[in-house]
Amino acid sequence: MAEKPKLAMYWAASCGGCEISIVNLHEKILQVDEAFEIVFFPCIADFKVKDVESYPDGYINVCLFNGAIRNSENEEMAHLLRRKSKVLVAYGSCAYEGCIPALSNLTTGKATLRSVYLDNPSIDNPRHILPQPVTQMPEGELHIPTFYNTVKALDQVVPVDYVVPGCPPESDQAWAVIEALITGAELPAPGNTVVGAGNSAVCDECPLQKNVKKVKRFYRPYEITPEPGICLLEQGLVCLGPATRSGCGALCPQVGMGCRGCYGPMEGVEDQGAKMLSAIASVLDVGQPGEEEAVLDKKIAKAVATVVDPSGTFYRFSMAHSLLRRVKAE
Ligand code: SF4
Repeated sequence: MAEKPKLAMYWAASCGGCEISIVNLHEKILQVDEAFEIVFFPCIADFKVKDVESYPDGYINVCLFNGAIRNSENEEMAHLLRRKSKVLVAYGSCAYEGCIPALSNLTTGKATLRSVYLDNPSIDNPRHILPQPVTQMPEGELHIPTFYNTVKALDQVVPVDYVVPGCPPESDQAWAVIEALITGAELPAPGNTVVGAGNSAVCDECPLQKNVKKVKRFYRPYEITPEPGICLLEQGLVCLGPATRSGCGALCPQVGMGCRGCYGPMEGVEDQGAKMLSAIASVLDVGQPGEEEAVLDKKIAKAVATVVDPSGTFYRFSMAHSLLRRVKAE
């Protein structure tokens, strides 16, 4: 029997949703099993790092790497899996652009540890103990990974062949990519190339009607019940559809929840947050013709202040790849 191509999937700094998107292939997962030999997949089977280390370089045909680079272990695994894999895929938003873990680039690594281990109201830590990379014990030294100050995307650490965006990727999109790998169908040239998604904006695949474009203020989802069939942004709900890559089928807006931006910036857009700011500016309508600039400025500031947590909203998924990248150096 011919040898099957080898498949690996690894989980760095992420929530596990990317693994769920593979489980959500349902019965198609049997085709994955039929087509590939799984050689590393810690979430489903007891593989060890030494197993991967023992493989020759390039032994793994396809590695789906999900998760951002948050600590030294994530980075070491990224280098190891890059060396051992012919095709390395940044699978999901954390590997692609940092996602939720990279929101901590809005502060410092030290401040993040402080909030988790010292200031967190659910923590009882009277001796103010923080995790240390090396701890001396009577039995010897204990090592844990070093926590980095800045969260990075996978391609900021090693070269990536393909990117499958999404938080997590939609299972049908993930399947389209896996099917292409199984059947040998032609994929675009590798080189951090986005596959399993569209090329335009979520707005282009959203069936909600857009025509009003007049917003006096913004609302949080619990504050209003949106009128069905009408664009959410035009009803004052922040929706990142104008700045986000298509491919998900605009699932969230169709159930009254603004697009959160998990497919990352659309083709040709470098900074998703900046693009969204310009979309917000285009729907704001707070002034009167001939109004004094100072009065207008105040009205605009008041309306913009109704967007709660702008950086966390506009850069929720794309902080590591944004122009800001991080806002505070240590
Ligand atoms: Fe675009 Fe969102 Fe409006 Fe749909 S609801 S058209 S995705 S802004």
